[in-house]
Amino acid sequence: MKRPNGIVIAIDGPAGSGKSTVAKLVAKRLGYLYVDTGAMYRSVALKALRLGVDVYNEAMMSHLAQITDITLQQQSDGSVRVLVDGEDVTEAIRTPEVSEASSITSAHLGVREALTMKQKLLAEQGGVVMEGRDVQTVVAPDAEVKIFLTASLEERAKRRWIEMQQRGIEITYEQVLQDVLERDKRDSTRSVAPLRKAPDAVEIDTTNMTIDEVVDKIVELVRQKQSCEKE
Ligand code: C5P
Repeated sequence: MKRPNGIVIAIDGPAGSGKSTVAKLVAKRLGYLYVDTGAMYRSVALKALRLGVDVYNEAMMSHLAQITDITLQQQSDGSVRVLVDGEDVTEAIRTPEVSEASSITSAHLGVREALTMKQKLLAEQGGVVMEGRDVQTVVAPDAEVKIFLTASLEERAKRRWIEMQQRGIEITYEQVLQDVLERDKRDSTRSVAPLRKAPDAVEIDTTNMTIDEVVDKIVELVRQKQSCEKE
């Protein structure tokens, strides 16, 4: 299928596997749009927490997902600002409370339907690097390049902990390890769109790789795909 702006690169994997960092850099190298689907689930979760809506309430959360205006605004330096109903929430959606709430939020079918629809529209245009949990299986199963990123649990928790330290969030490594473990379990065992590697995806274990090595490998796969498509 030909898309107007180029191909779709779908990058999925568990929390802390390096998806966001890598996807952002791949998008920059290719001049593509970077779409963080997790930021959309986080946005709905943040709005619920602020409004005092019970994140376990499927009907309320689905309604919230439908009426929330989420904009991913790409900046000239490649970074992305997240706007919810016009308010910049880029930092506010990264707290441990929102991480936990977004994982509960994302298990609701109605929430997934609302957000998947927005994501599919972005994928149809092409020229995107889209990352999340179900991009290669549900949002864009026809993506030209599918990558499944993994890393050991300890390494993923370490990365998340360092990231939080840098942002001044006070939390112990043990707590982050526990949070990542719980989110992994919820994301891969939920009945709707669980975290799965597509059969035709390339799996990359990033435990002992540098960010540049992972980015180079993905860009190489994209180039191979693009040259095959030209032939
Ligand atoms: O990737 P990130 O950690 O920001 O995602 C936040 C939460 O949103 C995840 O824990 C996961 O439950 C959910 N998510 C999802 N499907 C996606 C992206 C994220 O269920 N495509």
